[in-house]
Amino acid sequence: MGSEGVILPRHLVLVPCPYQGHINPMLQLGTILHSRGFSISIIHTQFNAPCPRNHPDFNFIAVPDGLPDHLISSGNIPAILLAVNANCHTPLKDRVAQMMQSEKPNGKVSCIIYDEYMYRAESVAYSLRIPSIMLRTNTVSTFLARDFVLRLIDEGQIPLQETAGSIMEKPVPEHYPLRYKDLPTTIFKSLNNFVEVVKNIRLVGSSSAVVWNTLDCLENPLLGQVKQQCRVPIFTVGPMHKSAPQLSTSLLKEDYSCIPWLDKQAENSVIYVSLGSVACISEHELAEMAWGLAKCNLPFLWVVRPGLVRGTRNVRQSLLPNGFREGVGERGRIVEWAPQEEVLAHKAVAGFWSHCGWNSAVESIAEGVPLICRPNFADQKVTARYVTHVWRVGMQLEEELERDAVAAAVRRLMVEEEGLEMRERAVELKGRVEIGTRRGGSSFKDLDRLIDMIRSF
Ligand code: UDP
Repeated sequence: MGSEGVILPRHLVLVPCPYQGHINPMLQLGTILHSRGFSISIIHTQFNAPCPRNHPDFNFIAVPDGLPDHLISSGNIPAILLAVNANCHTPLKDRVAQMMQSEKPNGKVSCIIYDEYMYRAESVAYSLRIPSIMLRTNTVSTFLARDFVLRLIDEGQIPLQETAGSIMEKPVPEHYPLRYKDLPTTIFKSLNNFVEVVKNIRLVGSSSAVVWNTLDCLENPLLGQVKQQCRVPIFTVGPMHKSAPQLSTSLLKEDYSCIPWLDKQAENSVIYVSLGSVACISEHELAEMAWGLAKCNLPFLWVVRPGLVRGTRNVRQSLLPNGFREGVGERGRIVEWAPQEEVLAHKAVAGFWSHCGWNSAVESIAEGVPLICRPNFADQKVTARYVTHVWRVGMQLEEELERDAVAAAVRRLMVEEEGLEMRERAVELKGRVEIGTRRGGSSFKDLDRLIDMIRSF
């Protein structure tokens, strides 16, 4: 209450992890909470800083992350995350401590909501006696698969590739439908870094709750399992992009010219292709993708983002093979970054070739668009298996990226009976997601419960 009996908005600090697939759900959560009367500060790194322009009501505060250029360009994500947590701890604590000294009526912080990968924010909250809540931006299946990987590491069985080649195709006991090769075992350059990050992100510590960007109807049996084991409430409020007003959260500028192009295409005719914000391919794979898309003879919208080709940072579409663009003409549209949610919701789009980052997968599911899964690393392989074997709304392209295989996979999804059945299931699943997010649905109710909890702090 303010001094004149007016109820003042409570002030929340949100701490996103500096990658696109993490920034999006955190800003969506901030947007939802703002629309429910909270005032929002985003404390973020200088590296991959979110753009304040689309969120004029939020207070954006950059803290020094101390990341050297060579570490950023190494792409060694576990090492970057360890450095971010170590380097941002003190500046984050100082900024929040300053806020707690504030004389302004709503200056003091009621709660810190942090991405699981920004785990040091929990100790900042604890030391300043502020309640905290963890946001998990991935699936429950990935969480459990990561736990299993930790167990294998403890037993000395990782890296699997080196210990037993043939085990990779075998199913993981009690983790249907995963095979050993689907486990999120990406170790990048150091197993120790990976283990340290994974051990940290599984700890809830002093946090009061876990918010998960997934939903009951997709992950129910597993969710029941983790809810039983977790000593704090778990709120599954996903997919949050469906509950938040559509505001851009992109680090790269979206190219909206693809929307009028989509408007000109026939209904359910276009395959959308994007490998997300981090996954990379070789120049040879880029060429095979290009010729495969040329060969499939269907309209396509392809995101070739800066840095998609391994080892290149700014060289972009110039890497496309000679003659490809002229060959496909107006049938193919290439952009550096797309307004993905709008693209997937467009009636012309009938399939999504995706790396299966969780945001991309759930955005596709929420629009009833079936997928060709081409996972690259980490959680993407787990999500791909769930898409293909549990929700059965996609197929995985596992063979080497080669133009004939690409063209055949696209046609299988887009025009063959098998693909049409996947689309039917995807549309049915979209309906269940809609039920979950609308009033009375599981995600809607969990969002209310979360808000009640924050108001009680
Ligand atoms: N995205 C986008 N435009 C693009 C490609 C991706 O807006 O051209 C967004 C997409 O909607 C998703 C996010 O970037 O929300 C990527 O997150 P995801 O978890 O799918 O993959 P990541 O980039 O983390 O590997």
